[in-house]
Amino acid sequence: MHKIEPQPGIMEIDLYVGGKSRLAGHDEVLKLSSNENPLGSPPVAGEALARAAGDVHLYPPTDHADLRAAIGAVHGLDPERIICGVGSDEVLQFVTQAFSGPGDEIIHTEHGFSMYPILAHMAGATPVCVPEAGRVVDVDAILRAVTGRTRLVLIANPGNPTGTMVPEGDLERLAGGLPDHVILVIDGAYTEYAEGYDGGAALASERPNVLMTRTFSKIYGLGGLRVGWGYGPRSMIDVMTRIRQPFNLSVLQLAAAEAAVRDRDWVARCAALNAKQRARLIGALREMGIACDDSHANFVLARFADEAQATAADAALQRDGIIVRRVTGYGFPEGLRITVGDAVQTGRVIAALGRWREGV
Ligand SMILES: *Cc1c(COP(=O)(O)O)cnc(C)c1O
Repeated sequence: MHKIEPQPGIMEIDLYVGGKSRLAGHDEVLKLSSNENPLGSPPVAGEALARAAGDVHLYPPTDHADLRAAIGAVHGLDPERIICGVGSDEVLQFVTQAFSGPGDEIIHTEHGFSMYPILAHMAGATPVCVPEAGRVVDVDAILRAVTGRTRLVLIANPGNPTGTMVPEGDLERLAGGLPDHVILVIDGAYTEYAEGYDGGAALASERPNVLMTRTFSKIYGLGGLRVGWGYGPRSMIDVMTRIRQPFNLSVLQLAAAEAAVRDRDWVARCAALNAKQRARLIGALREMGIACDDSHANFVLARFADEAQATAADAALQRDGIIVRRVTGYGFPEGLRITVGDAVQTGRVIAALGRWREGV
């Protein structure tokens, strides 16, 4: 007798928990729990969506040629080395599924994105968690953890929920220090918020073992649309494309993403707003005695004295209709990850925490 059994690893998966969006007793909540863009999405994306709505009886192109050409033109990358997915999550799934399986190891780090161990289990591989050093990805610890079974290393730069970046030069050292059989995936979901950073594009251009992933969910404000992309060596992209469903992106997704990526003014404007409000929020938190690192993303990790303080601050924010993210599952029971909002929203957060601090 054979029983119906799931593939190895699947039952090890703890379901991903997203940011909350509702609060009992509040009609108008301020949601700062999912790193969404306070300005929404670029108007050109909405216009492209409306135009494409007339085409939904047609199958979309399978090769994503127009979107890849637009991404390539904007970023100075070879479109033949770009692959597009349903969010960067799907691109991460392509690379983990195509290059690892049962018996293989996938390295992620202590405070890394919670999708990484999930992706490892989806592929049947074993996630290996490596410590960070002071909330920063530790390149030497990763290199020490590599074994003959390691197939991939997954890191986000800037990191989520830390907002920190790997020190300059270390990414290169990591890529160069990994054995030939190991792929380094640099998840650049927050690249546009990190001044002067290319997301790993140069490394992915030059190295045979580096894949960069990017998303339309953050600075483009299109998280609800689900589009992301990856850039890497042609041979790697070719392998990944074989397991990509031919119609993974709809005509709506393709049209809106293409319009959005060409809107460079939008990116500049959102990055400038974020930098200003992020500095303001960090300054205010530190003034209140709440610890936080410099952030290179569109969120700040506030670290309270202990878990009870974080719980109390979270409750106070919720009483004021503000939802932020608990990050206990990321190794920060004492932390709250707060998405950087616009000027008014940031003012609300600072005022709410200030009142809590004063005990009023
Ligand atoms: C938000 C985020 C993403 C984006 O995921 P999508 O599937 O593109 O929406 C990827 N990586 C990290 C670390 C993130 O925080």
